[in-house]
Amino acid sequence: MTDLISLFDTHCHVDFSHFDDDRDAMFERMAAAGVEGCIVVAVDFDHIASLRALAEERDNVWFSVGIHPNHEVDVEPTVEMLCQLADHPRCVAIGETGMDFFRHHVDPEVQEQRFRTHIRAARVLNKPVIVHNRDADAETIRVLREENISECGGVMHCFSADVATANAAIDMGMSISFSGNVTFKRNDELRAVAAQVPDDLLLVETDSPYLAPMPFRGKRNEPAYVRHVGECIAEVRGLKLAELAAQTTRNARVRFRL
Ligand SMILES: [Zn+2]
Ligand SMILES: [Zn+2]
Repeated sequence: MTDLISLFDTHCHVDFSHFDDDRDAMFERMAAAGVEGCIVVAVDFDHIASLRALAEERDNVWFSVGIHPNHEVDVEPTVEMLCQLADHPRCVAIGETGMDFFRHHVDPEVQEQRFRTHIRAARVLNKPVIVHNRDADAETIRVLREENISECGGVMHCFSADVATANAAIDMGMSISFSGNVTFKRNDELRAVAAQVPDDLLLVETDSPYLAPMPFRGKRNEPAYVRHVGECIAEVRGLKLAELAAQTTRNARVRFRL
């Protein structure tokens, strides 16, 4: 008997033009790979209409509303703007938001204020926050704590920080979501973090079209490949893929209130 696999990609950008030529086929491959659903995550306001359309067309697709910390915009978002755009039954999260010091397209102080605004909107809406942190561990944790993230909950997406940062987020009840980089050869430390996240806070994602897992590293990523992320984490946790899939999919449904 083969185990039935049911995975969930909690973070992808399949609205991007990378998928314009084969989006329907991509969704078919996702279903064939045992990926029952995905969340298409916003990086700006300009494309919210196309995210929303994808979620309205497909009953296994949901979307978020937010502006990426390193996305340059003319007008900074307000709590009211975020609440208005997120007022849709298929919008299940606020983000992606957070702090990104890897590239300095946006001033750190502007990033921090924007991050705070997103969390405040999420608390008003009672939706979880999708948090992007790159090279800004201390600042990200400080803002999450000061803005009482535990009131609405959240996800540390594409987790790539250390165990102390993971534990600080876990202490606030946040989910930890791993993407393709957990499969990269040199990332033993990240796999060690993935091995010890509490069962009910563990999530998987692709961050498509970026960060394709092994053996597709460097190629365009897509939700079907979340299976490779799941296989890697199942192995370090001593589980079968079907068990890991069932657990993380249940966690996704709880976290995003699907
Ligand atoms: Zn991100
Ligand atoms: Zn992303």
